[in-house]
Amino acid sequence: MTDDDSAFLRSQGPATRAVRAGISRGPEGEHGEPIYTTSSYVFASCAEAAARFSGDAPGNVYSRYTNPTVRAFEERLAALEEGDAAVATASGMAAIFGVCVALLESGDHVICSRDVFGATAGLFGRYLARFGIETSFVPLADPTAWRAAVRPRTRLLYLETPSNPLCEVADLEAMADVAREAGALLVVDNCFCTPALQRPLALGADIVIHSATKYLDGQGRCLGGAAVGREELMRELRAYLRTCGPSMSPFNAWVFLKGLETLALRMRAHSENADRLARWLKTQPAVERVFYAGLPEHPGHALAARQQSAFGGVLSFRIRGGREAAWRCIDAVRVMSLTANLGDAKTTIVHPATTTHGRLTAEERERAGISENLVRVAVGLEDVEDLEVDLARGIAAAERA
Ligand SMILES: *Cc1c(COP(=O)(O)O)cnc(C)c1O
Repeated sequence: MTDDDSAFLRSQGPATRAVRAGISRGPEGEHGEPIYTTSSYVFASCAEAAARFSGDAPGNVYSRYTNPTVRAFEERLAALEEGDAAVATASGMAAIFGVCVALLESGDHVICSRDVFGATAGLFGRYLARFGIETSFVPLADPTAWRAAVRPRTRLLYLETPSNPLCEVADLEAMADVAREAGALLVVDNCFCTPALQRPLALGADIVIHSATKYLDGQGRCLGGAAVGREELMRELRAYLRTCGPSMSPFNAWVFLKGLETLALRMRAHSENADRLARWLKTQPAVERVFYAGLPEHPGHALAARQQSAFGGVLSFRIRGGREAAWRCIDAVRVMSLTANLGDAKTTIVHPATTTHGRLTAEERERAGISENLVRVAVGLEDVEDLEVDLARGIAAAERA
């Protein structure tokens, strides 16, 4: 694709960009995106090899640095997030780690939401701490707490919105103000919404993170991740990838590239199913409370309605009867899969307190609202009537103590 084509496609609507951005036709004129399964690339001469190695000439050298299929995915994702560029990585965690390694140094300070993905909290709290990078954990939806945590060496603010599994919402414009005042970068994990529902860069974030493993793939096939943002930041990320090595495989890039084509349709359908299931759950006497930002009584509702175009596919609920009831409910469903993954066409159901949030202490779980009777559902694309009947089956089993 020439620069002209890229710029032209950038001017098109989001659905057009999702289908067309990042296409680079090979010599066969193939209409489907080719998968370049090659580790290295041949040079026409020593002069060309030298120019490519030094970066003076464009072109591929080695697939740890660049690969045409991976680049196509990066271009398509960057076009959807409305960022200058994207850098794809082997997993979502490799993208988060990469942002830290590429942009932080010993003595720097990070402020991170308490309600982040478990491995993300572990990365900041356990590993970066060993290398002299300290992290303060603060409540997601309270900009005052973030402001109060700022130190002279604060370099990075890190959050996910909406949060997992209680769907709390951060005001991204307010958080961008906090970051600007602190002279720090705002990094937003946009895994739950995807660019189909929320574009943090347009609201003032500096970097968007993705676990492509989730909705970008959408069918639970591959691991991958990405960071998106300004060219000067992405250049640092590319240097990290070239040196440290957690590159995305071309096959996975191809899966994600195709996933992006249907992303907007899928996110709309996930959101519609989740919304309907949340409203149905609310009518169930055995259900104590439902957490979904699409419900008007949810504390994050107004904010989510403003900064997201829909409320996404993840919800959770508290069932009467403690952990035993939650387990009985989950063990009795027949359609939903008992798995910790999310962002799949197949609905998944999980007990956060003993799985995804099991590494937290009881006190940390209590503070995060991860009660023993909490059940998380990542609503898929099945017939929503079947999902209702399935949860009704679970609830009936929970009541049969
Ligand atoms: C899954 C997930 C990650 C980690 O991504 P991997 O691809 O599994 O490494 C990061 N953030 C969020 C919000 C996730 O759900």
